[in-house]
Amino acid sequence: MAPSSSVEQRVYQGIRYKLVRTRRRKTAAILIAPGGDVTVRVPQELDDGTIHGLLDKQHDRLMQAVSKQAGLPEPVVRSFDEGCTFPFLGQEHRLHFDTGASEELTLGSDGFHLRYREGVDAEATYQAAFRKFYTDHGRTYLAGRVHHFAPAVGVLPTATRVLHLGNRWGSCSPKGAVNFHWRAMMAPPKVVDYLVVHELAHLKQPDHSREFWRLVEQVIADHELCHEWLRAHGAEMDL
Ligand SMILES: [Zn+2]
Repeated sequence: MAPSSSVEQRVYQGIRYKLVRTRRRKTAAILIAPGGDVTVRVPQELDDGTIHGLLDKQHDRLMQAVSKQAGLPEPVVRSFDEGCTFPFLGQEHRLHFDTGASEELTLGSDGFHLRYREGVDAEATYQAAFRKFYTDHGRTYLAGRVHHFAPAVGVLPTATRVLHLGNRWGSCSPKGAVNFHWRAMMAPPKVVDYLVVHELAHLKQPDHSREFWRLVEQVIADHELCHEWLRAHGAEMDL
């Protein structure tokens, strides 16, 4: 008689997990232990494509579990060297120097292209170029997400701004403007959406009361995971 279940260690997209196939099971489930261990329980015959599809759907949550598996990451020190990477909307992109580039900084399919500089102030120029890049892209992208989520939150924001906000990810003004740190553009889209909904919810509820979190949860059901992700990775989202 065949065993009623089988266990396999697997890795998919950097996520280590234990695959348990059970004949008794009719549905699939992904379980994450507090220590970050991931177990995927599936019916005996479920194919790999379907299993990977399930993992893709919970990607952010699983990535967060993976960060626990490996212990908290070291704070990243980003240096402006050929081949170093910089994040944009959750993806790391390699840095390339172009001597004759017409623009200070652009993002192409092979990574960031930064105009090469000589001299002692090169580092400061590079910093400024990246800040401007995140700010400029943030203006369009974040305004789009604000526009997208405002009806669900039930607010009418008057403006979306991208600024240097010190150690805060976002803020809002009594006149109805929502502000975001340029660093937010380094985070994955799901986390950015959470930051947007968080600030929009503040237009209704200025505090972090139960009503506030209920409102956030109505729009971003897994907001706690985004919050956790920021706690674990927020320090990396910097220059
Ligand atoms: Zn808040």
